[in-house]
Amino acid sequence: MRGSLLVDNIGELVTNDIGGEGGPLGIRRHAAVLVEDGQVAWVGPARDAPTADRRIDAEGGAVLPGFVDSHAHLVFAGDRAAEFAARMAGEPYTGGGIRTTVGATRAASDDELRATVRRLRGEAMRQGTTTIEIKSGYGLTVADEARSLRIAAEFTEDTTFLGAHVVPAEYADRPDDYVGMVCGPMLAAAAPYARWIDVFCERGAFDVDHARAILACGQAVGLGVRVHANQLGPGPGVQLGVELGAASVDHCTHLTDADVDALASTGTTWVSGFEPTTVATLLPGAEFSTRSPYPDARRLLDAGATVALATDCNPGSSYTSSMPFCIALAVREMRMTPAEAVWAATAGGAAALRRNDVGRLARGARADLVILDAPSHLHLAYRPGVPLIRQVLHNGVPQCRP
Ligand SMILES: [Zn+2]
Repeated sequence: MRGSLLVDNIGELVTNDIGGEGGPLGIRRHAAVLVEDGQVAWVGPARDAPTADRRIDAEGGAVLPGFVDSHAHLVFAGDRAAEFAARMAGEPYTGGGIRTTVGATRAASDDELRATVRRLRGEAMRQGTTTIEIKSGYGLTVADEARSLRIAAEFTEDTTFLGAHVVPAEYADRPDDYVGMVCGPMLAAAAPYARWIDVFCERGAFDVDHARAILACGQAVGLGVRVHANQLGPGPGVQLGVELGAASVDHCTHLTDADVDALASTGTTWVSGFEPTTVATLLPGAEFSTRSPYPDARRLLDAGATVALATDCNPGSSYTSSMPFCIALAVREMRMTPAEAVWAATAGGAAALRRNDVGRLARGARADLVILDAPSHLHLAYRPGVPLIRQVLHNGVPQCRP
């Protein structure tokens, strides 16, 4: 959209600008934001605001950077509501249901998959998510992984090749052969559409040797590394991620002291500004939906690790696209402060994607803004389940209503 746009009458502006005053969230009061050419052109006191072609009145509401959801599985078909109901009736979660979604995804047309991604992307946007990572991982053939990523790339720059989500049934008794295919023809077909490579490093999925081999193959063709690690039990995934310089290790539900130390040793983005740390991305929607113990966010934060929050949106273990819901869970169930949770859902997600153009509101950042129907970011956790997102600007363009 051409021309300049001024968002003013902002009661509380969260900038995540750690260079200034206002605590870790860089909070400014009675502020205004000028948007030009899809970027933030100016941030300052409303009384000093420059004139603009158009204006949005925030009506005293809080304005935040758009949420950065750094972990989502949106390319799939079908749902697993019955599995959820069985789990809530007492059956344990094992990850085995992934193969159910693989069957449905292989049988779906491109247009059916595209429609699901579009629906969930829109759902997330209405809840304030302006940047989203999208993984493959429900195709698990060369052709189905490549088309999953090709479709994902229509919706985001942050696409992740997750051919190593689970060993598909037809390879169940020869996992070495499957790993060879992931590293060979599947990676070759997927890489043109992928920015990242990811592995589900877990008992029942891929062991540490297979995971290391797959991630190294991805690195060799220029993909960044992320790992599904330590979700269902303790394991080597977190250490492997740190060893390989992963942008993020995700889940982190079962950590040893050595795992926490390893993550903390990579640095704290909160204090030091943007640095390529290995972020601990916590996915509390998964613990909610599988009725499992939550990760110990307090322990990670107190040790000095960088923490992000993401939805893990997928049809099996976490079918939510709502970052506000994850913020509320993190505060209520994981003992994060509201400020820590909001930071983790914005700047933390950006760090987990090694991006500094999103997750903050400062001159030069992408003009991704969320305007709340509430005076403070505190309300995101204080008023759980309430649709507080009044307006979303993505690349400076209003998404919800004029
Ligand atoms: Zn996941």
